[in-house]
Amino acid sequence: MDLRSKTRTLEGPFRSVEDLPAWNYDGSSTNQAPGQDSEVILVPRKVYRDPFRATAMDKDHILDHDRKNSSVHNRALYVEHRSLDKPALSPVAEPEQSSATRPEILDGCRNLLVMCDTYEPSGRPIPTNTRAAANAIFTLPEVSCEEPWFGIEQEYTLLDSTTRWPLGWPKGGYPAPQGPYYCGIGADRMFGRNIADAHYRACHYAGLAVSGINAEVMPGQWEFQVGPCVGIDAGDQLWMARYILQRVCELTGDVVVTYDPKPVPGDWNGAGAHCNYSTRSMREKRLGGMNEIERAIGLLEDRHAVHIAAYGPGNERRLTGKHETGAMDKFTWGVADRGASIRVGNETASTGAGYLEDRRPSANSDPYAVTSLLAETTLAKSWCSEQGSSSYDARNVLGGLTEALTSAKLSNAASSLEDDDSSTAEVDQSFKSKSSQAGSGNMYEFGVPITPEKTPPPETLQEYLTRPATVDSKGRVHRSPIGDDGSL
Ligand code: ADP
Ligand code: MN
Ligand code: MN
Ligand code: MN
Repeated sequence: MDLRSKTRTLEGPFRSVEDLPAWNYDGSSTNQAPGQDSEVILVPRKVYRDPFRATAMDKDHILDHDRKNSSVHNRALYVEHRSLDKPALSPVAEPEQSSATRPEILDGCRNLLVMCDTYEPSGRPIPTNTRAAANAIFTLPEVSCEEPWFGIEQEYTLLDSTTRWPLGWPKGGYPAPQGPYYCGIGADRMFGRNIADAHYRACHYAGLAVSGINAEVMPGQWEFQVGPCVGIDAGDQLWMARYILQRVCELTGDVVVTYDPKPVPGDWNGAGAHCNYSTRSMREKRLGGMNEIERAIGLLEDRHAVHIAAYGPGNERRLTGKHETGAMDKFTWGVADRGASIRVGNETASTGAGYLEDRRPSANSDPYAVTSLLAETTLAKSWCSEQGSSSYDARNVLGGLTEALTSAKLSNAASSLEDDDSSTAEVDQSFKSKSSQAGSGNMYEFGVPITPEKTPPPETLQEYLTRPATVDSKGRVHRSPIGDDGSL
């Protein structure tokens, strides 16, 4: 996840994003522009309070803000004044309100985080600027009048920055199997809660609508939820929340975050970014409610491949049909079904109105692509009337990945699934590839796992579980690693 920032000092006051000037950076240093014409223009789009550079003057402002807004009491955060490895940060704040209704946060704030998108000097969005394409969808009249809401559940995995192995896992080994970790408590189960909590508080201070956090099924994996936010704001807020998470991790000095869809192969849950979605017509029974949700699901089924192509690189390693996912090559939906592509909650089904949950996007997906494609497929006339001719080119989002490639990927995924029909046949080669790649880093970054030259023989979960085990003083299970020849 390549997020970057630079800092400048300006004379204020700034009351809104419109007061902020455009700026630029050296695009040749980020592979986004040639050296001889290297300027990439930064256009400010959103402003948030900066939790990492709060000054005494901001502090007054925060206290004042808290007095005026009892629901944000105790939300002040000065990350730099606290040591993240001390166990007790203050309890987490209450959930933020939706960004649409949150109070103006900038008044008197002297340190800001400014979310920008990027343009060529000619004014054309640079190819990686997916926000511009998404915004074109959200400003279509047939889309904006439906006031699309998105709530994104961002899952992420914390890694030790030197070993690139999940936080809290035994060095070169595995913790006890999944089960006790999801929403768990206790030092033997929870790794990185101080980071997840500090991030929660920092996001609230910034003014982001982070509505909750939870520990995930795989130990060392966490989730935060952004939203519901309206239209383009969902992508803006999620990207800013990701930025803040990386900055919080940076403060620890030795923990990094990965959004890889399947950080550890085998019987460990992958990481997704479920996108909860509703339109005015879905939320209001008299405008259609559940009927509208079912109509939308029908359209989403027709365009499954386009969506999958835009839902994150490496997602085929995650969408296997196991570990609470729907298989990538098959579109399914169901009420309360966590093994489906789209889930409709019990409450929505029983009240006859509400929202749907698209479970397909991976943790490393681009929320601009995901949210705008949902809106386009279900609302945009250009697609609905012409069936297939898209006003929005998913290939822009993918940087050249065509639908043809998608179908190839889908059939590959399908054939690899055929090879793998027993529920315990998933291969856990990570230890082996890890030890042979020691020090190479980046094993799981950006959805491109390093594949060892020689693939070790598959080890079934049963085989893994029957390896000799020792239990350490913290109750963690260590399994002996397999030797180069596959022996124990
Ligand atoms: P799950 O049960 O799948 O873990 P979560 O509680 O983690 O669900 O996340 C649900 C998300 O759905 C939250 O981000 C919430 O803001 C969002 N949400 C709730 N109502 C709506 C709605 N009407 N439209 C869109 N998103 C919604
Ligand atoms: Mn969730
Ligand atoms: Mn989750
Ligand atoms: Mn979910």
